[in-house]
Amino acid sequence: MLITQLKKKEELLPFFKENILLIACFGCKEVHFPSKEYELLKAELKTLNLNISGEIVLDYLCNEDYTAKRLELYRNEITKAGTLLVFACGVGVQTLAALLPDKTILAGCDTFYVPGFSGFTPTSYDCEQCGECKLGLTAGICPLTACSKGLLNGPCGGTKNGKCEVSKNMDCGWEKILLKSKAIGEPNPRIKEIVSIRDYKKSFS
Ligand code: SF4
Ligand code: SF4
Repeated sequence: MLITQLKKKEELLPFFKENILLIACFGCKEVHFPSKEYELLKAELKTLNLNISGEIVLDYLCNEDYTAKRLELYRNEITKAGTLLVFACGVGVQTLAALLPDKTILAGCDTFYVPGFSGFTPTSYDCEQCGECKLGLTAGICPLTACSKGLLNGPCGGTKNGKCEVSKNMDCGWEKILLKSKAIGEPNPRIKEIVSIRDYKKSFS
């Protein structure tokens, strides 16, 4: 089972410089979502008069086919929004980022591991449940699971023809992060912000 925890308000508030659409995933048995805290946060955000263009609540965000269909219902809201702030586990955020490649996607939650049943939802995306989600800084591609070395502060320099130097069968995660960042107008993914030392105490996997 996974647990998602809302990021601290101080971490979330700087996101609201942009016009933000909130997307929350309320629906799966394998991930505990802090729904009460989320409602409290929303009430507080309302009083702060921030740039929030709306909210979409979905379930099973990690199910790519299902989410792709559901997103069609919200095409207008998504087109108008500059940035999407997603409250979901790391897998859900990665799925959405892949489905909306031209959007800036920010992660509103950190995902933690707890022992127990992990579910069978089919997904191509992986989350190591590190407890300090970086997806909002890396164009929605997880630097821990998409890069063989789990590098947080940029590529190792060993990539060749888009492949990882550790495994030629694997695309270089950092090349994907850099290309996608460029495509969404963030040529230098907020790398400077992520060169913080990872707190391994938060990761129990
Ligand atoms: S950075 Fe990666 S491993 Fe950490 S919570 Fe986000 S998706 Fe999961
Ligand atoms: S080649 Fe790319 S994916 Fe492989 S370890 Fe280096 S940065 Fe990570």
